[in-house]
Amino acid sequence: MSGRGLTFRRGGTHPPENKELCDAASYTVLPTPAELVVAMSQHLGAPAKTIVHNRDEVEAGQLIGEASAFISANIHAPAKGTVKGLDIVHIGPVNSPAVTIKTDPAVPPVPEYDREAQPLDLSGWTKDEILARIKETGIVGMGGATFPTHVKLSPPPGAELDVLVINGAECEPYLTADDCLMRNHPVQVLEGTRVIMQACGIDRAVIGIEDNKPEAFQTLKAAAAGLGGIEIVRCRTRYPQGAEKQLIEATVGRKVAPGNLPFTVGVVVQNVATTAAVYEALATGQPLTRRLISITGRGVARPQNVMVPVGTSVAELLEYCGGPKDGLAAVVMGGPMMGRATSDINEPTAKGTSGVLFLTKDELIVAEEDPCLRCGRCVSDCPMGLVPTELMSLAMLGRFEEATDALDCVECGTCAFVCPSNRRLVQWIRLAKWELGRIRRRAQLKQKETEAKAAKS
Ligand code: SF4
Ligand code: SF4
Repeated sequence: MSGRGLTFRRGGTHPPENKELCDAASYTVLPTPAELVVAMSQHLGAPAKTIVHNRDEVEAGQLIGEASAFISANIHAPAKGTVKGLDIVHIGPVNSPAVTIKTDPAVPPVPEYDREAQPLDLSGWTKDEILARIKETGIVGMGGATFPTHVKLSPPPGAELDVLVINGAECEPYLTADDCLMRNHPVQVLEGTRVIMQACGIDRAVIGIEDNKPEAFQTLKAAAAGLGGIEIVRCRTRYPQGAEKQLIEATVGRKVAPGNLPFTVGVVVQNVATTAAVYEALATGQPLTRRLISITGRGVARPQNVMVPVGTSVAELLEYCGGPKDGLAAVVMGGPMMGRATSDINEPTAKGTSGVLFLTKDELIVAEEDPCLRCGRCVSDCPMGLVPTELMSLAMLGRFEEATDALDCVECGTCAFVCPSNRRLVQWIRLAKWELGRIRRRAQLKQKETEAKAAKS
């Protein structure tokens, strides 16, 4: 802890914030687009199984994709309309089955969150009922990780949870959608927090907010007065404070060991947007079909926070926000540190899309990669205590089995941001992680085959 607010100890950086571009005081609501492309794979785990057919009529909130595995999530129609096609859509590197819905022209915009939201009476809800509702409504982590929430709230037997940490850090530059949500809808955030506490049998929650969001901090603090067990804490602005392990250290002072998950230190973490979605699921049965997104950057005419139905194209958002400005050079899904560039203006938004950035050339770091200077900055600033330059070298040499530390990388991009030689550190580390996953899956398959053979003989 420090007099200037709580924070994590190791590494981290301060990229230019650029949050002033996108006003967090209010948001607008997008008129429902004529067409929505709803991907079946917008969460971590197996894609949902499409359960509608071409030319089917669908209602807003109707289940159109069913969770197909333990780690998977339901998908619902964001608006009333007709199924126009069952296609494959590219969401970054993932090719996902998708349902294209031609929306009913008379359909109103998806509703904003209820400004008259009331506290919930949770006395009639059991833990299993809450988890079943969260599963039914297709809620996934909306901070970007998109892990199905009902799975995350069901730690392995023996795990003892005693603190819920709610992530209101929003440490990614440019993005202000979580700030906007906390300022405008404190009831949803706080009541969703209470729901999750009840589902996990936890009586303490800590909501961590960085000190560059004073209005959100004050709003939640005032709204939480009298609510037992919920603490609002101010964190010192520092990237990547919103990464789970860093936020746990900052807010409750516990360290999650490399390779371990938060439940090993008795903590579960949820993002504020997920928490609001959980409130809606219990209060009204509303599935996760819309969210607040920051449409921002110097390459768009009118940056703003917008309530957007899932499946809206980037092109539609650009037009709604006044079109491109001179010098637009790149579109990024998510924030500038952890997001990914897209070259497809028709890419649809998903449950995990917290921002769409329209960046000009001046906002991009487009520089030649130079040889490593051995300056050590990537090492000293890595919040996970890794040696990024070594992991990159191993990945370049294809020596993935020796790069197992890469599995602890949270892909925050700090190393690449601070590197004076513009080394493509995260890209190579990401490749190493992917290859290590492939090696592990292959070994598991081999093990299963060996066991099956042994069982037969
Ligand atoms: S190695 Fe991974 S965790 Fe460390 S700074 Fe780079 S991206 Fe972040
Ligand atoms: S920051 Fe860049 S130049 Fe410095 S050691 Fe790391 S990779 Fe090399």
